[in-house]
Amino acid sequence: MPNQTRRRAVFLDRDGVINPLIYHRDAGIVDSPFTLAQFRILPGVPRAIRLFNRLGLAVVVVSNQPGVAKKHFGVSLLRQFNAKLTAELAPWGAHIDAIYYCLHHPDSRVAELRKRCLCRKPGTGMLRRAARELHLALASSYMVGDGLTDIEAGSRAGCRTVFIGRWKCEHEAFIRPRSLRPDLIAPDLWRAARLIRTDLARASGRPLVPASGV
Ligand SMILES: [Mg+2]
Ligand SMILES: [Zn+2]
Repeated sequence: MPNQTRRRAVFLDRDGVINPLIYHRDAGIVDSPFTLAQFRILPGVPRAIRLFNRLGLAVVVVSNQPGVAKKHFGVSLLRQFNAKLTAELAPWGAHIDAIYYCLHHPDSRVAELRKRCLCRKPGTGMLRRAARELHLALASSYMVGDGLTDIEAGSRAGCRTVFIGRWKCEHEAFIRPRSLRPDLIAPDLWRAARLIRTDLARASGRPLVPASGV
């Protein structure tokens, strides 16, 4: 398919971007939600996704979810998370175009998920698969995440990268090579969406305003 017909996308990490991480007191770890009740949508997320929709960006979730491999929960729970997310976006007129999960883990307790795959971030497998299936232009797309592995995956796929959170000096020390530094930094997804809107406008050399007000 020729490049002109390929869509721009915004790839979103899930945990820490769309929903908060959860402190699991019994295990003493901060991890993904393990129950439907623990899966909450962060403030500003529906509005951010609606802005991406209005900017014409395909919205694609790309998330490492080794919780099935670690036997924290079953794969059907991931479908319930997706349904809850979709339902919470609907009243806003916002939607997600596709959700990709990497279920693999090198130390998986479930034999068929135990592998060193190409999709687990910082691998680029999920982004490349989405690009093939949804006809996306990786070089003019964005990867948004709260982890260095998100930035690395986005960078390796040729996307612009947006770090969610506070960029600390420790991060600078860990970044090798320096090309893996994020292009943009925002405290949350709503602020990230507005930065991306500005970035797109700058790239096109003209103001890029959604069809209706946000
Ligand atoms: Mg994350
Ligand atoms: Zn994988």
